[in-house]
This record gives sequence, structure tokens and C-alpha cells, in this order.
Amino acid sequence: MNYLQYYPVDVVNGEGTRCTLFVSGCTHYCKGCYNQKSWSFDAGILFDSEMEQQIINDLNDSRIKRQGLTLSGGDPLHPRNIEVLLPLVKRVKSECKGKDIWVWTGYKLAELDEYQRQMLPYIDVLIDGKFIQEQSDPSLIWRGSANQIIHYLK
Ligand code: SF4
Repeated sequence: MNYLQYYPVDVVNGEGTRCTLFVSGCTHYCKGCYNQKSWSFDAGILFDSEMEQQIINDLNDSRIKRQGLTLSGGDPLHPRNIEVLLPLVKRVKSECKGKDIWVWTGYKLAELDEYQRQMLPYIDVLIDGKFIQEQSDPSLIWRGSANQIIHYLK
């Protein structure tokens, strides 16, 4: 899996101060997508074990307290990204006590298959659905368009 950006300190992608990872690869191709360069799975740089460890270290850094980890993209729940992200979210939940995980995906919760659903036990908040330009509303919190739903899974 590749990723486009990693912000070790982020206050705009979920509640509180967070670590945020924007992964590469998305096949929803929404009209008006805010980040079309994220569609390619080859964009960005390789997510390796060092990057995984950095996220764990940042979440446990007591100098800047983080509420949790945000995964966005691209699409973190695209099947091609789960092989790498599943071990990451498992580590966060076992090694970073009390940290929450927020995930943005273009899939609807109900349409996730069994493979994708392996991620759900580790996700606290899931914002689902494609961006639909006709339903775009800048006043919405955490969402770009009104069709998207914030699922508080915990
Ligand atoms: S799901 Fe998100 S990243 Fe993917 S095309 Fe739609 S807006 Fe862009």
C-alpha cells in the first residue's frame, strides 16, 4: 500500500488532536472529488514498517496528546489497502491505550463485504458513502455531502 500524506499532528480530520494518514487508491471516482491524485494506487510513497512504527510512537507521544488515528484517502477500505491497514489498526488498539480510530470511506457500511468488515471491530467512527456533488454542503461537519453518514460504531 502507498500513502499520500501523513500528518503527525492534525486537528481537522476528526475530533481532537490526531495522527492522520491519507492512503493511496480509490475506485469510486466521485465527480468533484477533493483529491483526485489519490485515486491511483501507485501515487505517493510506500507504507513500510518504519512508517507503521512512527504512527504507533506518535500516538503514544505524551508531549503532544493525541485522541487517536484518522485513516482517509483515497479509500482505506478498498480491498487492496486492507492487508496493510488491518495490522496497523490492530496494533493501535493493542499498543495505544484509549486511542480512537476514525475512517473515511466511499463505500456504504451496508455494502462492505466480509473481507472489508474485518476492519470494523477496530473502528470507532466510520464516515461512509461517496461524495455526491449535488448534495455537497460545506456546513456539514466531518462530511462533504449530505448522503454520507457518521456511524459511531463504539
Ligand atoms: S471516495 Fe473520496 S477519495 Fe474516493 S473518489 Fe470519492 S471523494 Fe474522492
